[in-house]
Amino acid sequence: MSELSDYYEQIKDCTRCQLYKSATNLVFGEGSETADLMFIGEAPGRNEDQQGRPFVGAAGQLLNDLLKEIGLKREDVYIGNIIKHRPPNNRDPLPDEIEACKPYLMKQIELIKPKIIATLGAHATRTMLEDKVSIGQVHGQTIKNKNGLTIIPIYHPAAALYNRSTIDVLKEDFASLRALLDKGKTEQKDQQPDSEDKYDQGALF
Ligand code: SF4
Repeated sequence: MSELSDYYEQIKDCTRCQLYKSATNLVFGEGSETADLMFIGEAPGRNEDQQGRPFVGAAGQLLNDLLKEIGLKREDVYIGNIIKHRPPNNRDPLPDEIEACKPYLMKQIELIKPKIIATLGAHATRTMLEDKVSIGQVHGQTIKNKNGLTIIPIYHPAAALYNRSTIDVLKEDFASLRALLDKGKTEQKDQQPDSEDKYDQGALF
């Protein structure tokens, strides 16, 4: 059993906040346990709650499509959320719920060690940056948070389902993600000429 699977076993019956009471499943996250790129959303929605998997509804399909456009598959990345149980009626998570659940995400990040974290939407971005930033102002930028993690804020794919013009912005930001991944690989190859197609914490990250 991997460390991440073991960690899931440790937290799967969590009752730290009230959200478990109204949810069907805990949505832990899924994808590559050694992913260079990790996506973090806010919380599970109805489809995710029913299936116990992140980003499986219409927004998830759009995420899959955007990944495909930059040459990636879901299995290449890791996808998780700040909150692991669905808030009733998709309401925003409360501050004490975020405080209760966020340590689980931080442990997942510690185990996966992604080079880049793409936060999807305002809530995930503000939580990871610990700052009340506007997603409209910071999306597509590369930002180091207080813990030294490399964050790229991106609009939540659900936003593009309601406002189609957001798709173009999302595509541009995904192109920025691809460029950052490629730049990291190039810098690593320059530093370690014998290495394979893998990079680690260099100047960029
Ligand atoms: S939302 Fe997070 S902290 Fe709250 S019960 Fe679920 S796993 Fe525990």
